[in-house]
Amino acid sequence: MKIALIAHDQKKEDMVEFAIAYKPILEQHELFATGTTGQRIIDATSLSVTRFRSGPLGGDQQIGAMIANNDMDMVIFFRDPLTAQPHEPDISALMRLSDVYHVPLATNMGTAEVLLKGLEHGFIDFRLLAERRSK
Ligand code: PGA
Repeated sequence: MKIALIAHDQKKEDMVEFAIAYKPILEQHELFATGTTGQRIIDATSLSVTRFRSGPLGGDQQIGAMIANNDMDMVIFFRDPLTAQPHEPDISALMRLSDVYHVPLATNMGTAEVLLKGLEHGFIDFRLLAERRSK
């Protein structure tokens, strides 16, 4: 599965902790991330991560393009709900595309844990999601 990982600055520490805790699951999948988030994950875990541009420089849009190309299976996006982001339109667009294409999207650690455990135990019917996407 292709999984995108994104964290706003105030949430990057959470993302690093999450990636360490879930490394055994994450390492079985193909990982993508915005620039700084990806670097932090690589430094902390040695996981293999394809890094895009930093979020404010277009990284969210690059991940959005993968979603629109039916080339992304899950998005874990630790948003900072307390700080205004200069690239808010890109963030909204990424979440909107996730909804358009039925891509499971977690915006906080609680939901992210549910998604990864669901992935680990095969509880997510990706075939059904892909069928819906093609309609
Ligand atoms: P970053 O981008 O990982 O490059 O910091 C994330 C964001 O702020 O959207």
